[in-house]
Amino acid sequence: MTVSSPTPLDTLTVEAGTPRLGRLIVFTGPSGVGKGTLLRSLRQRYPAIKLSVSATTRSPRPGEIDGKDYFFVSRDEFQTMVEQGDLLEWAEFAGNFYGTPKTPVIKEIEAGQWVILEIELEGARQVRETFPNALQLFVLPPSIEELENRIRQRGTDADAAIERRLQRALVEIDAAAEFDEQIVNDDFEVALQQLEKAIFSN
Ligand code: 5GP
Repeated sequence: MTVSSPTPLDTLTVEAGTPRLGRLIVFTGPSGVGKGTLLRSLRQRYPAIKLSVSATTRSPRPGEIDGKDYFFVSRDEFQTMVEQGDLLEWAEFAGNFYGTPKTPVIKEIEAGQWVILEIELEGARQVRETFPNALQLFVLPPSIEELENRIRQRGTDADAAIERRLQRALVEIDAAAEFDEQIVNDDFEVALQQLEKAIFSN
């Protein structure tokens, strides 16, 4: 895709605004590590926390709902969003494009909400530049072998896609120390507690 890198946000004023502002939480970790499951449980306990719905050019997996899990868009539609500056961050991941629609996130933060972005490493790095006050959390698997098992067991991806995701996982795990906190998703309940603690104590 021949598009320029994301422009710095004109939304930085949000950071300097009133005390009523909400907060932005970035949640990153390799594909298959269980980010989605952790966030689902977190939101069952704290329904007020918002989860940003990303746009993606990936095809829906069985059961995924357009507008709820993702906004499923064509490559042309995605490119238009990038060109119009509609995305807060975006990245290519395993052959598809993913990005965070800017307006809903800004509106929610301005309304005092807590908003979580579940995004991959490159997007998290972009948000670090534009929202330096965002809390950045990284989820690690107990081991690479266990991560591979989880991705394969999910059974939603073709072999080539699994390989791309595993290669990318190694790169992402190497960058875990860039984040404010690391959560190891071995025992799910322990990981969930760690996540709650990270969010409410930071
Ligand atoms: P999946 O295809 O498994 O749903 O997502 C693949 C990767 O893309 C995951 O690591 C997920 O966190 C990430 N991702 C989902 N939405 C976004 C987004 O809006 N921006 C970025 N940068 N990554 C995203």
